[in-house]
Parts: sequence; structure tokens; C-alpha cells
Amino acid sequence: MKVDIVTIFPEYFAPLDLSLIGRARTSGLLDVALHDLRTWTHDVHRTVDDTPYGGGAGMVMRPEPWGEALDAVAPSGARLVVPTPTGAPFTQAAARELANAEHLVFACGRYEGIDQRVLDHAATRMPVSEVSLGDYVLFGGEVAVLVILEAVVRLLPGVLGNADSLLEESHTDGLLEAPVYTKPATWRGHDVPEILRSGDHGRIARWRRDQALLRTAARRPDLLAALSPEDLDKRDMTL
Ligand code: SAM
Repeated sequence: MKVDIVTIFPEYFAPLDLSLIGRARTSGLLDVALHDLRTWTHDVHRTVDDTPYGGGAGMVMRPEPWGEALDAVAPSGARLVVPTPTGAPFTQAAARELANAEHLVFACGRYEGIDQRVLDHAATRMPVSEVSLGDYVLFGGEVAVLVILEAVVRLLPGVLGNADSLLEESHTDGLLEAPVYTKPATWRGHDVPEILRSGDHGRIARWRRDQALLRTAARRPDLLAALSPEDLDKRDMTL
């Protein structure tokens, strides 16, 4: 996958050298290029913002540098992702969809956001996804891009050592994952549930499913309500 990130803070992305994303980059599974938006300014102060039409607090990112930046890094075939608190909620399903793209371009907003015409114009020549990490407001899009990229890149074939991890985790089947444990069997007076030490794979699978259902019902009833009857088996119904 090819990824271009346009930002006024390229140094925010140092973590992309680390851990599994870093390894995906060195192995060639992921090609990330960082671009300083100020490269596409033409004044001595390298200005990227201006006052908002209609008045109000804060500054808005000017369309000219963004237009030139996207002309340069987003040829046809790319998909533009713009983090914004006004976007559609970012979910595992959205991550799966983005993971199918060959070329993602991320536009990191700052201040009060990017002049809307940049996105409207981009949408005339490429798919544009405006995505929100949640119902709160960050300083800028950089952290959001790190989150989105991490969720997407771990879905790329070959990035995770054991691809089965993707099948057994939260949000894959619409549920939260059951609690997990490792050695020792007893720690500070707390025991690992006996069934997980039984070696009975059928009972363990059922226990995990039950725990996932109970946890989801307690913490995220909205997820449970969104499941269709076909997603549930007979035993699920009796819980
Ligand atoms: N004025 C904007 C509003 O009220 O919707 C908020 C702008 S915010 C201070 C600056 C930038 O941070 C946004 O352009 C976006 O890139 C990023 N950002 C802030 N909150 C976000 C969220 N919940 N999800 C995704 N990006 C966010």
C-alpha cells in the first residue's frame, strides 16, 4: 500500500518508524511519504491559514496550498482520507474498506479545519472519506491519522505474524473480545478461569463466546443491538 501524508507537522509521524508499522515499511508492504504542506506556500512566512469568512474564532486552512499539495501527491487512483470531528465515525468496517485501497492520501487539518472547497474539489476527481475518531475535538489531524493508519495497516496481508489474530479480536464478529490471560495461573490471589486450563477446546470456545456476549451486553449494548439474528446461535439466545 502506498500512503502519502500532508501535514504542517511531519515530525509528528516519527512513530511510523517503530514496531509493526516500521517493519511493514522496511519489508516493502507499506510505502509512506510525508509532505510538509508549507512546501506549497509562496509567501515569505509560508502561511497556511487565514481568518474565517463570516467571522468567528480561530483560523481556517487556506485552499491554495492544499490544492497544490493534492495535485502533487494524489494522482488519479488515490483515495483521500480527511480526519475531522464532523466526519463519519471511524470503525473496524471502515478500516477494512480503506485496507483495500492501493493508495491512500491523508490530509491533516489544524486550526478550525481545512477550507471546505478543498474537499469539494477533491471529491470531483477522487473518493474522499471524512472520518471522525470520536465525539471529541483534538488539536489536529496528525494523531487521528496515526490511529487510522495503524488500524488499516494491521489488516494488510503479511503485516501480522499470525493472521488468525485478526479473526479472534474485538469488532471482527460485532462483539467485544472475551477477557484474556497468560501465566502464572494464580497472581495476587486472582486465578485464571479453570476452563481455560482444561484443554477442552470446544468448551473454551463456548466460554469465550459467552464472555464476549456478556461483556458486549454490559459495555456496548449498541453493538449487540446491531447484530442480526443470523449472527447469533441457539446458545447465544439463552444467555
Ligand atoms: N473546528 C473544528 C470543528 O469544530 O469541527 C475542529 C477543528 S480541530 C481543532 C483541528 C483538526 O483536528 C481537524 O481539522 C481534524 O483534522 C482534527 N480533529 C480534531 N478532532 C478530531 C476527531 N474527533 N476526529 C478526527 N480528527 C479530528
